[in-house]
Amino acid sequence: MKRILVMAAIALLVIPTADAQKKVSVVTTLPDLAWIAETVGGDRVDAFAIATGYQDPHFVDPKPSYIVKLSRADMFVTVGLDLEAGWVPPLLNSARNDKILKGAPGYVDASVNIPLLEVPTSVSREQGDIHAYGNPHYWMDPENGKIIARNIRDGLVRLRPQDAAYFDANLQKFETELSEHIKGWEEKMSPFKNTKVIAYHNQWPYFEQHIGLDIVDFLEPKPGIPPTPSQLAKIIGLMKAQDIHVIIIAPYYRPDSAELVARRTDAQVVTLASSVGAFKDIKSYYDLFDYNVDHLIQAFSKAQ
Ligand SMILES: [Zn+2]
Repeated sequence: MKRILVMAAIALLVIPTADAQKKVSVVTTLPDLAWIAETVGGDRVDAFAIATGYQDPHFVDPKPSYIVKLSRADMFVTVGLDLEAGWVPPLLNSARNDKILKGAPGYVDASVNIPLLEVPTSVSREQGDIHAYGNPHYWMDPENGKIIARNIRDGLVRLRPQDAAYFDANLQKFETELSEHIKGWEEKMSPFKNTKVIAYHNQWPYFEQHIGLDIVDFLEPKPGIPPTPSQLAKIIGLMKAQDIHVIIIAPYYRPDSAELVARRTDAQVVTLASSVGAFKDIKSYYDLFDYNVDHLIQAFSKAQ
């Protein structure tokens, strides 16, 4: 009798928490996508990002714990193009979860409908190691955050059509908030429009276009190929000739070459955040741009 009561109690606990109440388990490649997924999904979503914000998103070590997460996920969100080409396919293969494979309802390619920059007319290894389908760092244009959010919303509605109104309300709130933030960033940056800078890696064209910078050249001779002495010499000449005094770099690149060039050209090296979580205080997609705009302005002011 006692045992029957215990079993009945367990059944009562289990039944109401079954599928309808369960949160959608979302795994994303980058923290930016996880933050947007949680913003659109609200309390009906649990999102986990494989890469941290201070890690190089081109190269991530595939840990067994990621495979476990993916094997249990309802949804997978990827930046797409070829950003994660080196590490996502082996993880998805090992996870053996049909629900999140390309073409399945739980697969979300966040790059759908993004107006891509730098799409090559011909794909050739000469362009460098990476970026063969267009520049994949598109989340660095805050307007693209809205497109990413819509792609994630579509994925969530495929899995939970009954919650569509809830996801749409969250999406709308995010778009309104983001638009307000964008206005603020544009105003702050307007005195520095078209300031020339040098970057380490070609990862800022979307940010450059939106915020109104002029990235003249890169310390990497080709995307994904570390700086060479001849490239650094070329950049030093360029910076002197064009009066450029700011070098931007992501937190996961070694700063030595940027610092060397900066010493020769009396320039500022500014480490910008390339993802949510790049630094401790960058907890949201809004923080990401707040941080970058503020640090750029500081560097421009010092360089003057
Ligand atoms: Zn890149």
